[in-house]
Amino acid sequence: MSEERSLNFLEEIIEGDVREGKHDGRVLTRFPPEPNGFLHIGHAKSICLNFGIAQQYNGKTNLRFDDTNPVTEDTRYVDSIKEDIKWLGFDWDQELYSSDYFDQMYAFAMQLIQKGKAYVDDSTAEEIAASKGTPTEPGIPTPFRSRSVEENIRLFEEMKAGKYADGAKVLRAKIDLASPNMHMRDPLMYRIRHAHHHRTGDEWCIYPMYDFAHGQSDSIERITHSICTLEFIPHRPLYDWFIDELEIFPSKQYEFARLNMNYTVMSKRKLLQLVNERFVTGWDDPRMPTISGYRRRGYTPGSIRNFCERIGIAKRENIIEYSLLEFCIREDLNKSAWRRMAVLDPIKLVITNYPAGKEEVLVGENNPEVEGGEGARNIPFSREIWIEREDFMEEPPKKFFRLGVGLMVRLKHAYIVKCENFVKDENGRVTEVHCSYIPESRSGSDTSGINVKGTIHWVSVLHAKTAEIRLYDRLFQVEDPSSEDGDFKEYINPDSLTIIRNAFIEPDLATAIPGKGYQFIRKGYFTLDIDSNENSLVFNRTVTLKDAWAKESKKG
Ligand code: ATP
Ligand code: MG
Repeated sequence: MSEERSLNFLEEIIEGDVREGKHDGRVLTRFPPEPNGFLHIGHAKSICLNFGIAQQYNGKTNLRFDDTNPVTEDTRYVDSIKEDIKWLGFDWDQELYSSDYFDQMYAFAMQLIQKGKAYVDDSTAEEIAASKGTPTEPGIPTPFRSRSVEENIRLFEEMKAGKYADGAKVLRAKIDLASPNMHMRDPLMYRIRHAHHHRTGDEWCIYPMYDFAHGQSDSIERITHSICTLEFIPHRPLYDWFIDELEIFPSKQYEFARLNMNYTVMSKRKLLQLVNERFVTGWDDPRMPTISGYRRRGYTPGSIRNFCERIGIAKRENIIEYSLLEFCIREDLNKSAWRRMAVLDPIKLVITNYPAGKEEVLVGENNPEVEGGEGARNIPFSREIWIEREDFMEEPPKKFFRLGVGLMVRLKHAYIVKCENFVKDENGRVTEVHCSYIPESRSGSDTSGINVKGTIHWVSVLHAKTAEIRLYDRLFQVEDPSSEDGDFKEYINPDSLTIIRNAFIEPDLATAIPGKGYQFIRKGYFTLDIDSNENSLVFNRTVTLKDAWAKESKKG
């Protein structure tokens, strides 16, 4: 527990429970994803909370796949979820599946039927909805509510045996049709679904509803603190009711505010639409708010954990700025990324007084942020180099500390050059910048006595490698696409991806390490993309060096 912050409300509860010796001071949480999509940054918050809080109190966390809905679930999602949790740096105690408890849940349901606390209802979904009443008006019993225990047992057995079609019957808890809490008005426990399940195959054709499955799974595992998001507050009385009626281990549910973030959507259903309708290349597209998307884009596990820690645990919904996540990754990469040079929009610079055919090997440390620089790499230098087109101006304004005729800059890790001239093609486009260099100004052994204000990056023409560079911008143009009129996909940013096909990079980047962050000096943080192969290198920009949007909005 870090000293500088006070306990959040969940830590207070758990600390109190541990102090009182509740459950012998044992803390067991669970992370319960439904395997119907890839995890997103909202799930990361839940993971950090469930695993983090258990670690804090010497407890454990189960990974439980909440796989009670056969139609949308898939093993491919199970695998991706496990990979993402591990990547975030957490390890579960047991890997469990709600579907492993189907027999036990069926037995629990029978127990409630025998107690007269559950009944088989033949009404249609519409009839049930209509008979539930409204928050101000009590519901009315359907004709099936008064079925005998014996009849309910027989019908439920027949439901299980596959005698009825989908939707023909449901099992409902018999609670209180006048309850002010609509969830307590005889909620559904089981429905019929003749569908193949990713683990149980065709063994079952009845499946438990979330409210019946979730709390019972918690109880079977003897979960002490079952943490979920605020929308489940009205479900809590039902969670407790099932556990009380079944007289099973008293797991307790606690709720916190879900993570919402601007300029994106955070629901697997919507993310799946983006994938299926090809607005993105897949769940791991670097523009997606998924953990796999952030990983591919170059985010580190530490930056995401840090983000989750900073936003904290609240009891009220709010919207977190995407720029906070960017702040966290910049802070991380500033300390860990290796510095390299890459020219994204090249123009040739010729050093007229540097001997043709001469080559030098300059040295640049990998990471100036740490003692020793984490080693260094060789940077070849020669007469012709690539520089960024924007670092030269035909008619430079005052305070342009880059190149224009008569101006001087330092080439990073190399020499000071002075611009003498430039060459244009027939369309008036500058094609070459001509400079002279000052031989005594070599970085590290500069005896020239000349001070220049600007330093620019460059790559030797003779030694440069080419790469494709992918620049990303926010995926949506509006802060909350889900609350706008019409379909959320109408608000996709058409410029969310810019591809630069022929950037020049320093040769050392040919052996860039997958998963490692690189700062391309003055251009941002980058990482190798999985589309790279030995013939073509592809880099993703993780984040810019500065917050371009903050500047933009200040301009007004
Ligand atoms: P989605 O609507 O994106 O499908 P979900 O809640 O249905 O989300 P689950 O797989 O059921 O997805 O969620 C697993 C766990 O992650 C749950 O405990 C859920 O409360 C939590 N969770 C999901 N979304 C968020 C979020 N945005 N912020 C915090 N926790 C979340
Ligand atoms: Mg869910």
